[in-house]
Amino acid sequence: MSIISINPANGSKIKEYTELSSDEVSSKIEQVHLAWKDWRSTSHEKRSQLLNNMAGVLRSRKEELAILMANEMGKPVTQGKAEVDKCAECCEYYALKGPEHLADQLIQTDASKSYASFQPLGVILAVMPWNFPLWQVFRFLAPALAVGNCGILKHASNVPGCALFIEEIVKEAGFPDDVFLTLLISASKVPGIIEHPLVKAVTLTGSTNAGIQVAMKAASVLKKTVLELGGSDAYVVLADANLEEAAQVCVNSRLINSGQSCIAAKRFIVEQSVIEKFTQLFTEKMKAKKMGDPLDPATEIGPQARADLRDELHDQVQRSIAKGAVCILGGEIPPGNNAYYPATILINVKPGVASYSEELFGPVASIISAMDEADAIRIANDSVFGLGSAIFTRDIAKGERIAATELEAGSSFVNAQVRSIPQLPFGGVKTSGYGRELGEFGIREFVNIKTVYVK
Ligand code: NAP
Repeated sequence: MSIISINPANGSKIKEYTELSSDEVSSKIEQVHLAWKDWRSTSHEKRSQLLNNMAGVLRSRKEELAILMANEMGKPVTQGKAEVDKCAECCEYYALKGPEHLADQLIQTDASKSYASFQPLGVILAVMPWNFPLWQVFRFLAPALAVGNCGILKHASNVPGCALFIEEIVKEAGFPDDVFLTLLISASKVPGIIEHPLVKAVTLTGSTNAGIQVAMKAASVLKKTVLELGGSDAYVVLADANLEEAAQVCVNSRLINSGQSCIAAKRFIVEQSVIEKFTQLFTEKMKAKKMGDPLDPATEIGPQARADLRDELHDQVQRSIAKGAVCILGGEIPPGNNAYYPATILINVKPGVASYSEELFGPVASIISAMDEADAIRIANDSVFGLGSAIFTRDIAKGERIAATELEAGSSFVNAQVRSIPQLPFGGVKTSGYGRELGEFGIREFVNIKTVYVK
């Protein structure tokens, strides 16, 4: 079988790759395991030096990487460059903080000395999505290498060029051969890899359905999983919010990566007394965003990553309208052989409407009216997802209370856009997944927390 990358801006074929056979996959896993046998005992100093080198390589190849992402999945180049910078920062973060996060933790007992020590596990399989083709991989890879683990990557089938480029970056940074390898394979080969005795754990970022499949397989062979899955982030706008600022943050969040982000704002839950004003401001700002060629630095919305995904999104919009939602902006597929979809706003979104309950992975905003603060929180939590959330209010103490204790999500931001930050844990609750990436919590997911007791 072949893996084919297609430019979503014009439908043209970029390149066709031959999928690895099962035997080739097995020998790559063995190669990575062999590399791990040495890598696990390298010093923290050495690992940090190589992670810093990798940050340098990323920055020096920023332009090429941004163009590759634009071609393979339509990310506007300006956003692509920012993604490369973020990957470099993540490498630097773990170069600096990795040794501290992994230091032995002394624990007083009846022993002369007892402590928890953090030991690497071995080869970790990463199954990754196309939406942030670099960031999703680096936020797994930097802490994995810092711990002394090694990685194999099954990237999404529409970004094979990015997958191979990441392998090249690791080599160019000076890491030993085979500590990280890309496997160009289809999803059907993932269960066999999970079963492989030399693969010790799996992390998947992607849809909830893929997460469930991978978790079931991993459970059958007792291997740990971390799952970063879908989301339908609620942004709650209370009547006392600064509406101008809130509308801008909401629009920016909805349209990040042309709307294709797990932590993009998807549902805007607004107190009814300000919904008219908010909708007017929100609409003005959505209209102002420029859709176009992802290679043009001025472009803010590129094409969707694939035409079939764009068609699914449009189907969700049409099903929402059929159930009573009203489309006040966008909602029409532009002509031509491409995957574009315009900034779209649905109002009158209520329970029973697709955009109320499903994840819309594209530039479509659903505005939902709430009677008051309590009703807004109830609606925000009325979702199977629980990834990110945000609350907008001038009353900071109230905002913090709602963020910390009331919104059912892995992260809650007050008067700000939800984002992943190397220092802070990132992940979800409910069907948005489990486990955490980034920060101190992330680096400890794939370790043997080993108890050492000396009489
Ligand atoms: P996807 O279809 O689930 O694909 C993600 C990865 O999983 C790809 O590498 C895919 O391979 C693979 N895959 C798909 N089905 C699989 C299965 N049954 N077994 C094993 N592997 C499987 O998701 P997507 O469309 O690329 O990404 C969009 C989704 O990811 C959205 O729901 C989004 O919210 C979520 N996401 C979550 C986060 C987070 O941090 N929580 C971040 C980004 C995206 P193929 O490409 O070969 O099918």
